[in-house]
Amino acid sequence: RSRMRIDKLLAHTGYGTRTEVKKLVKQGAVEADGKKIKSFSAQVNPDKDVITVKGEPVEYREFVYLMMNKPQGVISATEDDMHETVVNILEWDDLVRRPFPVGRLDKDTEGLLILTNDGKFAHGITSPKKHVAKVYEAVLDENVTEEDKKAFTQGIVLDDGYETKPAVLEEVDEAEKLVHITISEGKFHQVKRMCHAVGKEVLFLKRIQIGSISLDPKLKPGEYRDLREEEIEELQ
Ligand code: URA
Repeated sequence: RSRMRIDKLLAHTGYGTRTEVKKLVKQGAVEADGKKIKSFSAQVNPDKDVITVKGEPVEYREFVYLMMNKPQGVISATEDDMHETVVNILEWDDLVRRPFPVGRLDKDTEGLLILTNDGKFAHGITSPKKHVAKVYEAVLDENVTEEDKKAFTQGIVLDDGYETKPAVLEEVDEAEKLVHITISEGKFHQVKRMCHAVGKEVLFLKRIQIGSISLDPKLKPGEYRDLREEEIEELQ
């Protein structure tokens, strides 16, 4: 990596949107090696120049860790010929550090999705050996029974003969037919197929937790934020 635009560097290190960081430059708050940067298109070298914002040094991080509230209708992939992807909606123009989604959510599923460019970190979350628990909120077409709950704790045989690991099915709101389902695997359409196996259909699906990380309630569908230091550590 060598030189890059100062507005891009700042936008990618948590100083706000491109518009917001341009304002910081205009205000004269940004310096490179002690000299005020006058233009937001100025080229800097994040490896060599000491960049400061209001006197505070800017740390350029190689790795990016994001939490997104994935909206429905968007594919959890980097590229797709037909549909919008979660990487498209990031409006990310730094190709070197471009994050990719960790694991998959169906097109019609919303909720917690982690994006990173740190392959090792991603593997730690998706590796079946790690048994990271994922919690889903689901609206079903029918109320669940005690037998259904028991079947989930014992593992469910899916349509292809695969027997799932023990899972947890909790009733949250009987009137709304709202349940929470906790699984520690990530088979294709797993939650939908587990429900289907006990005769229920999933009408709405949203992931609300991965490991001990919960979807930030402040994030509207399509919005994202940096993972906090302690959240990254929790998932490592
Ligand atoms: N299970 C599903 O069926 N779909 C998802 O998107 C995630 C888990």
